[in-house]
Amino acid sequence: LLELHAIRKAFAGVRVLDDVSLKLAPGEIVSLLGPSGCGKSTLLRIAAGLDEDFSGGVAHNPLLGFGNGSGIGVVFQEPRLLPWLNVAQNIGFADERRADADWIEQLLRDVGLAGQGDKLPKQLSGGMAQRVAIARGLYNRPQVLLLDEPFSAVDAFTRMKLQDLVANLAQHYGIALLLVTHDLDEAFYLSDRVLILGGNPSRIQRELAVPLSRPRDRRAA
Ligand code: ATP
Ligand code: MG
Repeated sequence: LLELHAIRKAFAGVRVLDDVSLKLAPGEIVSLLGPSGCGKSTLLRIAAGLDEDFSGGVAHNPLLGFGNGSGIGVVFQEPRLLPWLNVAQNIGFADERRADADWIEQLLRDVGLAGQGDKLPKQLSGGMAQRVAIARGLYNRPQVLLLDEPFSAVDAFTRMKLQDLVANLAQHYGIALLLVTHDLDEAFYLSDRVLILGGNPSRIQRELAVPLSRPRDRRAA
């Protein structure tokens, strides 16, 4: 569904990523952990097509996954909402055609913000703003959602709610997730696989085995 092959990346001659490969199967949730500065955000930007200055390959398979999706959605650490647009406009703003109001309303319901599309970003709490960012990431019906420390700026209680929200949405829409996080508990709670990036320059150091009975599975059972 998404395959990164032998990614190498340097900034001004300084090698950051060295031969990083990973595959994401449809519906799979993979977490990526590693020390600050090891290149996690860099790898996510490359996977999202936001950085084209690298060596190696990025392949998407548009035939798998759901809907007429355009492939990839991204949620950053901060919501990055445009302050002059309301919530609904922020969710649909990347649509060159007229934004799909019904789908936006559905997404608002999905993220627990039904009927709040008219609010402005400054009227939202941090957790609410991040929900809007998640809805915006889903707007194009992606097959893969890339999340870069999406919950680190919210309180522990909201974080738990957002973790479940994202896991449920991914399951509901059949979306694969690549989640960058510093939180090992979060990684084990949400993912099918946990990858550790590190070294100098960074490679995938190891893949941790996720216990067969995760808390999330136990609760759902
Ligand atoms: P964190 O956990 O703190 O978010 P990270 O793993 O996401 O860290 P990156 O942001 O990917 O790390 O950065 C990896 C390395 O690349 C760092 O050493 C950083 O200084 C460098 N780097 C990132 N972006 C640039 C840039 N635009 N120009 C030069 N160097 C950069
Ligand atoms: Mg980062």
